[in-house]
Amino acid sequence: MHDIFEDELVYFRKIKKACSRFADFYRYQEIRTPILEQAELFEKGTGQTTDIVEKEMYSLRTKGGDHLALRPELTPSIVRAYIEHGLQAMPKPIKLWYFGPVFRHEKPQAGRYRQFHQFGFESLGVADSVVDASIVLLTFNILKELGFKHLVIEVNSIGDKQCRPYFKKSLVSYLRSKSSSLCADCRRRLKQNPLRALDCKEEKCQRIKKSAPQIIDHLCKECHNHFKFFLEFLDELDFPYILNAHLVRGLDYYTKTVFEIYEDTKEGREQGALAGGGRYDDLVKLLGGKDTPGCGVACGVERLVNLMRRGKKEKEAPPTAVFLAQVGDLAKRKGLVLLDNFRKSKVPVGEAIHKDSLTSQLKSADRAGAKYVLILGQKEALEDKVIIREMKTGKQKIVGLKRVISEVKRKAR
Ligand code: AMP
Repeated sequence: MHDIFEDELVYFRKIKKACSRFADFYRYQEIRTPILEQAELFEKGTGQTTDIVEKEMYSLRTKGGDHLALRPELTPSIVRAYIEHGLQAMPKPIKLWYFGPVFRHEKPQAGRYRQFHQFGFESLGVADSVVDASIVLLTFNILKELGFKHLVIEVNSIGDKQCRPYFKKSLVSYLRSKSSSLCADCRRRLKQNPLRALDCKEEKCQRIKKSAPQIIDHLCKECHNHFKFFLEFLDELDFPYILNAHLVRGLDYYTKTVFEIYEDTKEGREQGALAGGGRYDDLVKLLGGKDTPGCGVACGVERLVNLMRRGKKEKEAPPTAVFLAQVGDLAKRKGLVLLDNFRKSKVPVGEAIHKDSLTSQLKSADRAGAKYVLILGQKEALEDKVIIREMKTGKQKIVGLKRVISEVKRKAR
């Protein structure tokens, strides 16, 4: 977990602004859900046997006996809110987006934090694969707008409750035949969550999965068509995608489409997937709502920031064009009011009002890159006047306190 400030925060703001612009265009409403939820929401939604819930979720018991969790992701929270606020009765799709912290007790390493931020988009109520494609489109274009130039989309379909059980059977029998060569985790997964074995990063398991049966060959007609149409949309968009038959994603609720987006450079691959998502047609019902299809994406903000920072330095604000300096108690009091009047008029003004020495204030003005300094001396404060000094030439002009804002605005034009 880490503190975020200075230029890192500038990137955070930039990313959130880009999300917000896309959300406005595609009519996604922002939603902020609590950081703490009932642990059961994720045990049921994300899945009891997933790494996220089994190993990484921070959970706690309150004095009252509640079993709570710091959210390790937001999709179950969004679905809970969707059910709780009667959004099921509203015209579909319901489109929601979020930006906020999530928590996972992972081993800290490149691109992996224990508190990090995700933004995401969720569309509920439509089963058509055009929704899957439009979510990929939205994410891809946000990343492109943020300056990512080597994006690659990995896609797969993991079927649904009709066809996945058949695939699981054939996968389990293949993996069983190799079980002595699998890692301990995968031997365990074989019983609980065999699909996750396809996702294992252990070298010996990677070798075995190369010849494993592929789910693509086991899709039922509906899932097959859904995937075919999804890929046709990506073709039409001319998006760079690759089929990754081993992409299963770590969460239980996915059905049909799953995808991840990478920046395909050395640094990009080091960070891991920038975004991941897919369809979750059974999740709303599983969490107690009506049978409702859904599709969404989550994107890791820190990973984007890490890569964006390496690219170029983003500076906070442009230099302050105008700086206020004051001398004496009366000038300090009037200066405080004047500053607030500048704020009300939306004119940015720098200050070092805590300082008393004019020389030291002029130094601060110089450091801030000020073009003009407004000097409120003892005499000026008494006469309700201000000196406007041009820093470069030293030229000065005295104006009435009441006129100074319009005069500064005129000069800034
Ligand atoms: P997931 O919910 O696991 O599919 O993750 C979605 C996105 O969140 C990933 O593609 C990453 O960009 C980001 N992410 C996941 N885990 C972490 C982590 N521990 N630290 C930073 N970012 C993460």
